[in-house]
Amino acid sequence: MKEVKSKDSKLNLVLLGAPGAGKGTQARLLCDAINIQHISTGDIFRKHIAGNTELGIQVKEYLDNGLLVPDSVTIEIVKLRLSECKQGFVLDGFPRTVLQAQALDELVNIDSVINISVSIDKLASRLALRRVCHCGKTFTAPNLDVKSIQCVCGGKAVQREDDKQAIVKRISVYQSDTAPLIEFYQKQGKLFTVDGMQSIELVHQSLYSKLFG
Ligand code: ADP
Repeated sequence: MKEVKSKDSKLNLVLLGAPGAGKGTQARLLCDAINIQHISTGDIFRKHIAGNTELGIQVKEYLDNGLLVPDSVTIEIVKLRLSECKQGFVLDGFPRTVLQAQALDELVNIDSVINISVSIDKLASRLALRRVCHCGKTFTAPNLDVKSIQCVCGGKAVQREDDKQAIVKRISVYQSDTAPLIEFYQKQGKLFTVDGMQSIELVHQSLYSKLFG
């Protein structure tokens, strides 16, 4: 892995991992800890869908069916968002294809890529039990019958549409299109892996200590 800067300097990070690996949760913890911006392409798309914008209408079917939004659309969205992040960022859910990774390299220097590794057979059950609040906080339901969980923000965490129906498809798209990025970033010497099967707090700690020693 490349030498990483101090936690006070601007840091450009990518979080890699399958759906349900914990990218969103870890991205939020990291951003709180080191004051960088969280860029989640999934969250951006879901906001547009909720707002019924032109982009939202264009991408809804892809999300509902667990398919990737076309690279050209996704890259433009990220380009725009990156231009607002002068103090460093953690990308969560981007890149998801080699083409996206190549486009990212053209746009900005990435310092480190963190791969959150979770065994594939655990992902489907994690996603089925995931409940998400509009504030972004995620919970694990005790069983499949639990429809919603009261969030600390006062909102209700519910199941995401694509966690109801597109789980298997998303995992297979991850394996075919996104997993090759592990080798892509390994070759660049920027990748390190953390064990995503540990508790949320332990994953955060190992990620943090790998970044800052
Ligand atoms: P998860 O990692 O839990 O599957 P995300 O919130 O990161 O969920 O993404 C949800 C969906 O948004 C994806 O299944 C895909 O349809 C779309 N999406 C998000 N990021 C990208 C991307 N980089 N390229 C193409 N589609 C994307």
